[in-house]
Amino acid sequence: MAKALAPEASTWPATNPQLIGSRCGSCSAVTWPKQGRCPRCSGPDMTDRLLPTQGTLVAWTTQGFVPKLPYAGKETADTFEPFGVGLVQLGDEVRVETRLTTADPAELKIGMELELTFVPLYTDDAGDEVMTVAFRPA
Ligand SMILES: [Zn+2]
Repeated sequence: MAKALAPEASTWPATNPQLIGSRCGSCSAVTWPKQGRCPRCSGPDMTDRLLPTQGTLVAWTTQGFVPKLPYAGKETADTFEPFGVGLVQLGDEVRVETRLTTADPAELKIGMELELTFVPLYTDDAGDEVMTVAFRPA
């Protein structure tokens, strides 16, 4: 079995999963993950919004060491493999910071098209694969 690391953050394992963000009814700001209050105008009128599954790469870096807590992965310094982290523009709505499926500079270019996917992060004590959000070259 597989399960989502953050079930509230996406519709995975739906057939065509989407990220679940939130949109402010007052100023139209969009967030991901969803928030109870608007980060732009502090308004409380936030409703769930399904986000585009395609985006463009705005900036990226390589996570080259085990992230500090609250990082959810279970790697140790010995088992950790570097991964890409990208800032991805989804439509004209929102930029999200997310894991990328590659950390290879030859495969990553600013402005390139990316699409949403889900990748296994670790296997939990019950033997279930825990899946997390990532973007891959489209
Ligand atoms: Zn707002």
